[in-house]
Amino acid sequence: MRRKRHAPLPPDTLDEPFGPPPEEYLYRCPACGEEMLVNEAIIDVAVGATQFRGEYTGGMPTLGCPGCNGETMVYIEQEP
Ligand SMILES: [Zn+2]
Repeated sequence: MRRKRHAPLPPDTLDEPFGPPPEEYLYRCPACGEEMLVNEAIIDVAVGATQFRGEYTGGMPTLGCPGCNGETMVYIEQEP
């Protein structure tokens, strides 16, 4: 399920003020209600770490919550 998109930008996009928006995912902590948008690069790192521990079960990984310092942040699927 990992997607790799680390190709360099083609030169003809360099004069745009902003590049393509990064893919971000809404995460929420069920314990303290903290919400944050997580860049897909961070998701990739979290999946890699989970795979390294042999705990990866597929789908979106849980992330550490800055509010309660636990691995409690879960991905909130949003309707488009
Ligand atoms: Zn929390």
